[in-house]
Amino acid sequence: MQHWLAHDLSSLDAILDRAHAMAGSYLHGLPQRAAAATLPAAGLSGSAELPEQGIGAAAALKRFEHDYEALLSGSPGPRYFGFVTGGATPAALAADWLVSTYDQNTQRNGDTCAAAIEQQAVDLLGQLLGWPAEWTGVCVTGATMANYVGMALARQWAGHAYGRDVAADGVMGLPQIPVFAGSAHSSTLKALSMAGLGRSAVQSLPLLPGREALDVAALEDALSKHGDAPSIVVASAGTVNTVDFDDLAAIAALKQRYRFWLHVDAAFGGIAAASEPRRALMTGIELADSVTVDAHKWLNVPYDCALLYTAHLPLQIEVFQNHSAYLSAPVALADNFLHLAPENSRRFRALPLWMSLLAYGREGYAELVERHCAAAQYLGRLIESDPRFRLAAPVRLNVVCFTLANADKAALARLHQSLQHDGTAYLSPSMLNGQPILRVAICNWRTTLADMDLTFAALQRLS
Ligand SMILES: *Cc1c(COP(=O)(O)O)cnc(C)c1O
Repeated sequence: MQHWLAHDLSSLDAILDRAHAMAGSYLHGLPQRAAAATLPAAGLSGSAELPEQGIGAAAALKRFEHDYEALLSGSPGPRYFGFVTGGATPAALAADWLVSTYDQNTQRNGDTCAAAIEQQAVDLLGQLLGWPAEWTGVCVTGATMANYVGMALARQWAGHAYGRDVAADGVMGLPQIPVFAGSAHSSTLKALSMAGLGRSAVQSLPLLPGREALDVAALEDALSKHGDAPSIVVASAGTVNTVDFDDLAAIAALKQRYRFWLHVDAAFGGIAAASEPRRALMTGIELADSVTVDAHKWLNVPYDCALLYTAHLPLQIEVFQNHSAYLSAPVALADNFLHLAPENSRRFRALPLWMSLLAYGREGYAELVERHCAAAQYLGRLIESDPRFRLAAPVRLNVVCFTLANADKAALARLHQSLQHDGTAYLSPSMLNGQPILRVAICNWRTTLADMDLTFAALQRLS
């Protein structure tokens, strides 16, 4: 055995203790750490030259800590409000450490319980959100991959409508399959590109006035013009800017008259259903053909974990089956993940989800959702109370979109920059109705009203 491998094998405990200490100092420092790092303009210092003999794990850990740890963001902390960024609950974090320790390849090989635990995690999350027990689900790396699986299933379904097994024979020569959507997330376009359906398949439909939700009358119009040919509808359950929801029940009702696959992107907003009074936002989702939900956002499971649920397991096996002399044949079982996921070898990423759902249960996640929505309402009121600011949209759930009352774009960009340097909070810039805004997306399990006060004080100080 090479010198350093042998050395590190005999000092494994010390190495893990060191990693534990590094993790502890990062976690305890989170409330003080700048929410977003400011990177050196000249790029990272230090060489990326492969050493001949290596330096051993202890020195490599030290090198990272010394040279780069300060350049990490505080994104698992309570005031990182950029994009849609969750943290990691204690149970999920502990489980994630163990995932790398156990290092299971999560397949139904009969040599590990990992796939059965993934199956349990899929069921537990379905129970939390009130989704149909018949749906099957699979853990993938993120909502982009979940949307990709959804589009691949839609493609297979539409192919059958044309008498074609697309998984076997490809899409070549088929008419383009239109994708009707209102505020589809950009990852849907990527998914369509990967699935061979093409980004240009998307037909963006009008939104309701002042909303990010699709105008269902316009959808019906588009569907009726398309006639009998198959199409795909991608509905949003939680848009990124304002957490707006398409009217899923009205969209699903159109399935009785028109021939389309209904994919719901509930990556972010789907988690609102953990709080029962909010479930009405998603009435009709039970009629979807495929649904995306992220675990590494509002569920506060570490990267990378999202799920795709579907009512069409056989189609999924047609698309993702993987034959070989040494791998089991595809059988229609919900935990036969080798034949259900884009990946073959798969991380045991379901364990943190399983652990967190078990640790905090229905009550824990409902409390988190309601606390975040209350924090957003509270911050919205603070912002409205200061004449220098203006809300750019009503606060629907856990996101606050605002801008400067004087509509000075340069000043808004400067405010964003100085807030990033200040470090109290990180917000991400976005565009709403063609105007630049700042977004505060509250998704971290640590965040409380006190963080809203700190953030608002920083905004006032820096404006
Ligand atoms: C974040 C997000 C995605 C993409 O998710 P990743 O996990 O980053 O791949 C897709 N759809 C919506 C609505 C999102 O919020």
